[in-house]
Amino acid sequence: MIKRVLVTGGAGFIGSHLSERLLKKGFIVLCLDNFYTGRRSNIAHLLDNPNFELIRHDIIEPILLEVDEIYNLACPASPVHYQHNPVKTIKTSIMGALNMLGLAKRVNARILQASTSEVYGDPTVHPQTESYWGNVNPIGPRACYDEGKRCAEALMFSYHRQNKVDIRVVRIFNTYGPRMLPHDGRVVSNFIVQALKGEDMTIYGDGTQTRSFCYVDDLVDGLIAMMENTECIGPVNLGNPHEFTMIELAELVKELLGSTSKIVHMELPEDDPLQRQPDITLAGEALNWDPSLPLREGLKRTIEYFRGRI
Ligand code: NAD
Ligand code: UDP
Repeated sequence: MIKRVLVTGGAGFIGSHLSERLLKKGFIVLCLDNFYTGRRSNIAHLLDNPNFELIRHDIIEPILLEVDEIYNLACPASPVHYQHNPVKTIKTSIMGALNMLGLAKRVNARILQASTSEVYGDPTVHPQTESYWGNVNPIGPRACYDEGKRCAEALMFSYHRQNKVDIRVVRIFNTYGPRMLPHDGRVVSNFIVQALKGEDMTIYGDGTQTRSFCYVDDLVDGLIAMMENTECIGPVNLGNPHEFTMIELAELVKELLGSTSKIVHMELPEDDPLQRQPDITLAGEALNWDPSLPLREGLKRTIEYFRGRI
């Protein structure tokens, strides 16, 4: 029997790469999306594949499907998008997780939850290990996303303890690559688009805050390794441990594009985490996963994607 895999948020940035990879592995992929931040163009090249099925649906509503595995990715990920309609973001994370866990329980499917480094908030432990409980402002502008994802993790583990649902939880750190939306406000897409257009590159705050950027293909390897793993249910950090300041990132994008864009500083958004770097020891041990593509190479590929579209 060919495995039937549901990918919620499958028309989004990560979901479309994951769907593509699962099809290559020979699985049947049910791609569920409400197109809030996803695009048909991300999956247009998959529509003719007989093993690919597109379902327009909002996961805050229940759905009955027969599947063997569920990757629950549906949720806007860029701060601009998730703060645009914070109530909807909370509903998507919590009611979405409830509906997908209900489905997993009913059909006995394994379910993987795409959680986030945001569960660590503005971390006081560095780098972040899975045992760290986080430092999240529960009422700030990022809370709709952070607390939604934290509650989704709590739901996953509650269904696991109470109903023996076969769960996997991964905490994804900043991921980038082709198919990011050009105007979703995330730093990698912003800098590339600004530099390509010769516009000012906007660093928020003094630019000494750090992030660690993982190329999307590496991340997809990690998601599939986690789903296929029989020992470890998580949570497991997935991210590239190389840490960069936003100034370093801006300079690197400028250099790769030979851009003359000016770097300007703007106000730092409220509750913007100062530093973020995953400890991926557990992912290495449990999944034998090692994100290999250096930022410079990943940026080149991402720049090529945007160059064709700007
Ligand atoms: P994205 O915004 O490109 O993709 C999210 C997808 O979910 C979109 O296609 C969107 O239309 C869909 N969606 C949103 N709400 C929905 C709903 N109510 N019902 C059905 N579909 C809905 O974002 P992404 O970067 O691909 O992120 C995918 C997942 O990974 C998200 O859960 C996100 O929280 C998580 N994640 C991403 C990153 C990152 O750096 N990209 C980091 C940490 C966690
Ligand atoms: N950022 C920036 N300029 C931009 C967009 C973002 O300096 O044009 C900063 C932002 O303040 C944050 C970092 O880049 O410190 C990463 O932001 P992003 O929105 O990509 O992700 P997140 O904050 O969720 O990690």
